Amino acid sequence: MRRRRNVKIVATLGPASRDAAIIKRLFQAGADVFRINMSHTDHAGLAHYVSTIRAIEAEVDRPIGILADLQGPKLRIGAMAGGGVDLETGSTVRIDLDSRPGDAHHLYLPHKEVFAVLKPGGHLLIDDGRIRLRLEKVSGDNATALVEVGGRLTDRKGVNVPDAVLPIAALSPKDRADLDRALENGVDWIALSFVQRPEDVAEARKIVAGRAGVMSKIEKPSAVDRLHEIVELSDAVMVARGDLGVELPVEHVPGKQKQITRAARAAGKPVVVATQMLESMISSPIPTRAEVSDVATAVFDGADAVMLSAESASGKYPVEAVDMMDRIARSIEGDAQYRMVIDAQRSEPESTTPDAITAASRQVAQTLRAAAIVCWTGSGSTGLRASRERPGVPIIALTPVANTGRRLAIAWGLHCVVTEDAHDHEDMVDRACQIAFREGFASSGQRIVVTAGVPLGTPGATNLLRVAFVGRKNVTG
Ligand code: PGA
Ligand code: MN
Repeated sequence: MRRRRNVKIVATLGPASRDAAIIKRLFQAGADVFRINMSHTDHAGLAHYVSTIRAIEAEVDRPIGILADLQGPKLRIGAMAGGGVDLETGSTVRIDLDSRPGDAHHLYLPHKEVFAVLKPGGHLLIDDGRIRLRLEKVSGDNATALVEVGGRLTDRKGVNVPDAVLPIAALSPKDRADLDRALENGVDWIALSFVQRPEDVAEARKIVAGRAGVMSKIEKPSAVDRLHEIVELSDAVMVARGDLGVELPVEHVPGKQKQITRAARAAGKPVVVATQMLESMISSPIPTRAEVSDVATAVFDGADAVMLSAESASGKYPVEAVDMMDRIARSIEGDAQYRMVIDAQRSEPESTTPDAITAASRQVAQTLRAAAIVCWTGSGSTGLRASRERPGVPIIALTPVANTGRRLAIAWGLHCVVTEDAHDHEDMVDRACQIAFREGFASSGQRIVVTAGVPLGTPGATNLLRVAFVGRKNVTG
């Protein structure tokens, strides 16, 4: 089974996609990675999803990536009197640590440490930015604010503070518990929400300790400000446009998407474009033209993956949404403009042997019109390097490490195959040919380009490039 596209699809699981039969259909329709949103999933749910996906993985014999997305240090307003109150535009409210239910004049913000960084003139955005407060007076444990945009406020809605770096830990106690459980279950990726500073990523990395890839969600202006350092410390990033569009004016989001995808691509780190991509498909079997164009833009940006949230987690058409993304991606990648746009954004190889070999393998493969580039990768770094080149021919990543195959499922263009380690040089080339044939990438008489590091099993030591013919002995037996 092979996909006919390079960009990958991440599908979030939820009530609309809880059963094994649906998850399998999502995979068949094109989902390469499944996202488990820990804001809405308990530990029993997490275990259910992971074991279900692993069973499907064994059945279809393809590595599948699993991403556990931690809720992060999300601020929330306390309860409201009677469950909900109207805040009037132009009125003044006091925000404090008084735990009485909120009303039209008083809101409970149960986060003491936050008051220290609030500033007059700054904003508090409540309920995905639907309600907008401008701070007027601030003291140690309370503030008064003008309601710039009012509306009905119900219990425990989220609060964004875009103008401040909050003095709160990167991982809440819930995040730590969820993280431990996700790692125990063997997920491949951990996504960190509301990363504010590089230190937040470093702290999570210490706990994860290589057991999963660490993906930083870029959804705070402070994270955009320190993007390069955060990309450097992360294994992948997500353009988390939902919260980013609350924290920043929405019209800034497309530019940030370009900036983040480029920074990640230059660094060779996978980048996922997320949120509202096919939003109308939550309730309609057909997306809007604007949504199709949005997915297309992410594909043209050379994103590694595009993501579905509520569309696959709680919408009426989860399978149709994945299928639609697959169709859009294939169509755009077949468009005459696509190659030009992707090639124009390629960054120069670094001056290291692995990068030089990888860049050369793309050129050789394109010059020879080879059927595929086949790279042997243990840790995954050679696979990511091959993906970073965004070659015009398919890439097969061969790895003896099942977890590497799963983790690389998110990376642009990589068709991962888990296979035992090569015994020697000839075995490495032979097996590359056999697998390229078996997986439907090459036929007899076609050439493939093989890269590897010798001696075999030295991590990150790609130093060998071979051109091989797929011959009769590779296609029989
Ligand atoms: P969320 O993250 O869905 O967990 O909020 C994605 C986003 O904010 O875009
Ligand atoms: Mn978010």
